Amino acid sequence: MALKGLDIFKLTPKTNCKECGNPTCMAFAMKVAQGSIEVTKCPHLSEEVLAKLAESTAPPMKTLTLKSGDTEYKLGGETVLFRHEKTFVSKTLYAFTLSDTMDDAEVKAVMDESLKVDYERIGERMYAELIFVKYTGNADRFVELARKAAEAGRGVILSCSDPATASKAVAEIADAKPVLDGANASNYEEMSKIATENGLLLGVTGENLDELYDTVEKLEALGNKNLVLNVGCNSIKTAFEAAVQIRRAAILNKDRVFGYPSLVDVAAMAPGDEAMQTALASLFTVKYGSIIVLEKMTYAESLALHGLRQNIFTDPQKPMKVEPGIYPLNKADENAPCCITVDFALTYFVVSGELERSGVPVNLLISDAGGYSVLTAWAAGKLSASSIAKFITDYDIENKIKNRNLILPGKVAVLKGELQEKLPGWNVVVGPNEAVALVKFMREFANK
Ligand code: SF4
Repeated sequence: MALKGLDIFKLTPKTNCKECGNPTCMAFAMKVAQGSIEVTKCPHLSEEVLAKLAESTAPPMKTLTLKSGDTEYKLGGETVLFRHEKTFVSKTLYAFTLSDTMDDAEVKAVMDESLKVDYERIGERMYAELIFVKYTGNADRFVELARKAAEAGRGVILSCSDPATASKAVAEIADAKPVLDGANASNYEEMSKIATENGLLLGVTGENLDELYDTVEKLEALGNKNLVLNVGCNSIKTAFEAAVQIRRAAILNKDRVFGYPSLVDVAAMAPGDEAMQTALASLFTVKYGSIIVLEKMTYAESLALHGLRQNIFTDPQKPMKVEPGIYPLNKADENAPCCITVDFALTYFVVSGELERSGVPVNLLISDAGGYSVLTAWAAGKLSASSIAKFITDYDIENKIKNRNLILPGKVAVLKGELQEKLPGWNVVVGPNEAVALVKFMREFANK
């Protein structure tokens, strides 16, 4: 049970020594209760008190690590029900499905289509991180597909509730550290043994929430706390209710039995219906799927889902910014012209992408504009002739770059005259209004 600030205060020495960085023990206790400071910041708490506080002030939802190829992802660790309350921390991972009912041609088609969706958007790699390998009764085929999935360099989820088959598949790809999804009320002991012996996350399911709760309690009693809760797929309604109830129980009621990440198999809820699966995956990206399983990952699905995920899993209190500075593109050196824009991440990635596409060497200058887009920064006074001139001085641009051509975003062409006065040795050039026109503009500019 989580302790309140006053309960925590009673356990402190009450000397107000300030060594924890707080003016009083009460202030420290309140922050511990809110989860904004670690209990270990007070050096005067006994081991016994520390152990008691560590248990009761631990986050309501566990953070687990999942391996996907060479990358490790975090699952869970959420502290709020709604993104605007603070932020969501561990982004949803997407999986596509291989089933032991599929023949080689079907497997190849799904793998080819899903694996080719792999691109970067605003600094983030967009792809299906996981492959969900589903057992329906053909053990040899299941093990073969598990191997195939592991060889693809993505993370693997083995969906199998038969301990003997699960054991064979795990042995085959143990190094890939798959998630073993398939523990239930009748097999949890054997499945937990396989998972713990191999250091794997264990997916647990139940006929209903009560059964799931009881099974998780039994698994915890066995010492296994590396669990992922499968919300089931009997119907969209029950899966959605389960996803929401599990998260509410963990965050609002601080019930740690449900304080685990969740897995949602939307492929099983809408088989063969790509549009419906995308709609469901969108729903469960927002509420509250840690892993979402689709039949396949197409570009159409990816653009919707990864775009949504990128919006949901950013901290609303922090602007999406890149570091101000000089970004040489296309092997630009000190003799390449300069193109200036703002530090809003989306602007940076769109502009740098188009400049790279032009093939013309150019030094992209990113000025500190508070993380705003070009016109917003200009309207807010964060992008002006003075701020650009100051940036040129602060970053010692004149000593680092010999070329004196400075290309300005077309949307702030109004700054040209004043900027030219502030930078007398420079040739200020107005660029295009839209980034998409930069390719043609830069090629023409380079040929002048
Ligand atoms: S370090 Fe400990 S004893 Fe000192 S003020 Fe902070 S909580 Fe109180």
